[in-house]
This record gives sequence, structure tokens and C-alpha cells, in this order.
Amino acid sequence: MKRFLFALTAICLVSCGQSDVIVSETPPPPPPKVEVTRVAAPNDFMDNQPKLVVGITIDQMRLDYLYRFWNDFDEGGFKRLAGEGFLCGNHHYDYAPTYTGPGHASIFTGTTPAVHGIISNDWFDKTTGEMVYCVKDERYSGVGTASKGGSMSPHRMLTTTLSDELRLSSNYASKVIGISMKDRGSILPAGHNPTGAYWFIGKDEGNWVTSTYYADALPQWVNDFNSNGLAEQYVSSGWQLYKDEAVYNESMVDNNPYEAPFKGQFKATFPYDFTDITEDRYDLIKATPHGSTLSVDFAMEAIKAEGMGEDDITDLLALSFSSTDYVGHQFAPASREVQDCYLRLDADLKRLLDFLDSSIGEGEYLIFLTADHGGAQNPGYMKKKNIPAGYWKPQVMLDEVDAMLNSTYGTGAWVHNYTNDQFFLNKELIEERKLDLVEVCEKITTVCMKQEGVYTALSTVDFLTSDFEELPLNTIQRGIHPKRSGEVVVVPAVGWISNGYTGTTHGSPFSYDTHVPLLFFGKGIPHGETARRTTVRDIAPTVSQLIRITQPNGTTGNPVYEIFNSQE
Ligand SMILES: [Zn+2]
Repeated sequence: MKRFLFALTAICLVSCGQSDVIVSETPPPPPPKVEVTRVAAPNDFMDNQPKLVVGITIDQMRLDYLYRFWNDFDEGGFKRLAGEGFLCGNHHYDYAPTYTGPGHASIFTGTTPAVHGIISNDWFDKTTGEMVYCVKDERYSGVGTASKGGSMSPHRMLTTTLSDELRLSSNYASKVIGISMKDRGSILPAGHNPTGAYWFIGKDEGNWVTSTYYADALPQWVNDFNSNGLAEQYVSSGWQLYKDEAVYNESMVDNNPYEAPFKGQFKATFPYDFTDITEDRYDLIKATPHGSTLSVDFAMEAIKAEGMGEDDITDLLALSFSSTDYVGHQFAPASREVQDCYLRLDADLKRLLDFLDSSIGEGEYLIFLTADHGGAQNPGYMKKKNIPAGYWKPQVMLDEVDAMLNSTYGTGAWVHNYTNDQFFLNKELIEERKLDLVEVCEKITTVCMKQEGVYTALSTVDFLTSDFEELPLNTIQRGIHPKRSGEVVVVPAVGWISNGYTGTTHGSPFSYDTHVPLLFFGKGIPHGETARRTTVRDIAPTVSQLIRITQPNGTTGNPVYEIFNSQE
């Protein structure tokens, strides 16, 4: 049957060539060597599956961190993953806004906010007129915490995840667990019906928790972990440079104006002593590399206690490291703190890989590693180096839009909300005054375009009625959900961010926010690299094909075919 299909494909390719059919209408180009496939022996077709898939997301990791810190990494972590695995070196987010919620949803659903509906971390809900958080769900309460940080579920994600499809494919025999310091970093990857999803409440609690959406009580192993004293031990140890000071020459000087100190401290310099910080003490776990260490500790305990990877039914652990994002926001990419955070993460990854080798078996598990978005350089630092950049403050623009709408169409509350650089307009009022929505949007975009710091502004109608083929507008387009997004989208200029003076942020459609690592490693993965542009929505269909399950139901990406065509 398979050969027959290949023969048909070959005939079709030949005849298409002869009859001048327009090839541009066909889907992405087929693999260059169709006769070579990963399925060498028929008996391997279904039987030779990884026992465990570990999907690692590193929050805010730019691809260049892999290059910049390479010489300072030890053997066995990033060097092992890239040195033995398959690197997609031109891997991008192909939608904006590039935020954590949409990022994690897109990795695991194989599609973009236009389809899975997680359009941001927080957004204005047009149906209720209120702001919503991507995983907030008041119908459920915390388990292991009394705080509101426990009232969570994945109900706003409209499509299935890799994890959902794995569970469906095995009649729920596969175990799926989501782990992340951030609730959204755990809940969205774990899908709608996992074995468990755990996140970390800092403040004065310092515990891993879940919600009643998943379980009525924490498993005993989670309770035991929470009482092991590790969180306090880590915070008490402060934060020192992991390696000799000379190693940090890829980063700027420790004492620089582009960083913010920890709450209650005056200087953002090593060594950090947290003895005096008592308020929200365990938030320091999240805000330092200790968060990555504790996440690996917890992940290893989950694998052991839940028996993940023990039998031949493939399990999935979705592990997202959040501390890299907190450190990035506070100190920005060029800082020593970011460098140290990655050197320590490298050691934690080595620890995880060594553990997987000994517990699951070397070559018996599959890892994919990526990030949920990148991050911009600090604009103050860029300006100092004569590179165009800036701090985007929309208030002047909002006032001018308001004034224009009131003077043109009469007094009224024309704008319901402006979030994620989108205008949510009062469509009832526009209808009531018998105005043309497209014309109102055009007038707004004209005002926006006059602002310094704006790259472009477009009406959502443009995005829903035209197909934008070029970057960066096609990136914006894939971030727009037909029902959930606002009516006008503003895109800040390249290098401009909505942030305070120190640290950084992300969210744009530009390469510093979209270009992230994608590494595959382990069972079935050849060593190699591609420079072809791959996108976030290619990850889930790639893994789906590797482990022989159906693609998530909203998938719009394609498998990274080079992995299947290269044979060692
Ligand atoms: Zn993030």
C-alpha cells in the first residue's frame, strides 16, 4: 500500500510537470527524497515508540543564547541536545502577540491564536465586557493552596493538544503531566484531560499546587515534595555566579543602569543575599535560577512517583521553565544574570538527562525543546549603541483617537478597551449611530500611524478579508481570532517595547521575539540541522508523526520533514 502511494505520487509529480498545472497552489513542498523514510523495517512502524516524550519549554529563550553561551556550557546539557539531536536553526513564532499563554498553547496545539483562541495572557472578553486571564476559571478552586492562583483550567483553549491526542489515542492509558512554575505554562501544554497539571505558588507558600478541575486532593508524592524544605533551602542560599567571573565576558558589566534590583534591595549585582526578604519570599524561587532547579527536582519526582515511561505506552511530560522569563524581564538579555540563569539551567538539563538515562534508558525517550517566545534587547542599551529603539507609551495615541472619535462622530464611549495593542470598539454604539465600522477603523488607524513608535496600524477587517503573505503582517494575521480579537491592531516599531526603563519584554512580530530554538533529541531523531524556516505550529505535527498519533484537531502546521528523511 505504501509503495503504491509512492508510485502514485511519482506519477502525479511527473504528469503535473508536463501539464503546466500551477504548482504554487499545492501545499508546502514534499520531502526532496521521498524514497528514503524513517520507517525502514515494517515491524518498527508502530512498535518502536519512545516510552516517554518530554516537551521542554524555556520561557523567553532566544535562539542566540545557545550560541552565545555555548563555550561556557558543560557537557551533557545543551551541548548534548544540540550535539546529538536535530536543530531547527531558523525556527520562529509565526504569529503575534508573542506572549507566554499563546506560546505554550501554540507549541502543543500545532496552530496559532487564530484557531486555538489563546490570543494573549489577558484579554478583553467581548461577550462579558471584562478582562479575562487565559487559564483563569472561577468554577474551580485551588488544591494545595487557598489563594486565587489555584482557580484555573484550560477551558479557553479551543482545540486539542498533543497531550490530548496522546491520551485519546491510548484510550487514556498514556500518562500526561504538565509542570511549570507558571500556571499557564503547565495547564495549556497538559491539555484538557491530563493525568495532572502542577504549578508553583510563591508568595509565602512555596508549594506545587493544582486545581479542582484536575483533582480533589494532591497526590501523596506532591504533598511529600512540598514538605521537603527545598524551596526554603534554595532561597536561603541566595544567588551567586555559578562560574568564575571571567566566564561572563559575553555579558555587560554587573552594575549597569538597565537592570532592576529585587524588591526591597538597592542594587542589582552579585552576590544576591535574600536573608532580609520575608514578604512574598518564595516568589524569589520563580525570580531566580532556583526555579529551574526546583522544577527539575519536581519533574523527576513526578516521573518516579507516577511511573512515567515504565511501560511501552508512550507518556508525555510537559515541562516549562519559567525562571528564565522572570530573570529576562528583570535584567534583559545582555545581563550577567541572564547568562548565569542559562549556565545553571544547563546544569539542571544535564541532571534531567542523566536521570532519564538511568530511569527510562538512554535512547528510549524523546525530547523536544523550544521556547514560548524570545525577548527584545533593552531599548536604553540599544540607544546607547546608536541602534534605533524606544519605549512605546500608547497613552498619547489613545487620547488623540478618543478626541478624533468624539469630534467626528459625537460624544460617546467609543472605545471599550485597549489591550495587547488592540482597540476593542463599542460596536453597539457604532451600529446605533449607523456608522460604517470599516470607515471608523480607518480613521483610527490614520491617527495611530502619526505616532512615533508605531510601525503600522490595521483594521482587523483587513486581516479577516485579505491574505497577507509577507512578514511581518502575516505574523500579525495569525494572531487574530475572528471572534476574540479587537477591531484595530497597532504594531509598535521594531525595537520599541511597552516596558519600564529597566529589563525587557516581548510580544512583537519581529525576529528578536519570534526566533527561538527548536531541538529534537532521543528516540528516532537523527543528528542534523536545518536552516529552513520552521514555525511553532510545526512542532505538534512533527511529534504526532514521530509517535504515530493523530495531529491536534486544529493543526495548521506541518512536520519538520528533514527529521524523517535523514537516516544515519
Ligand atoms: Zn513566556
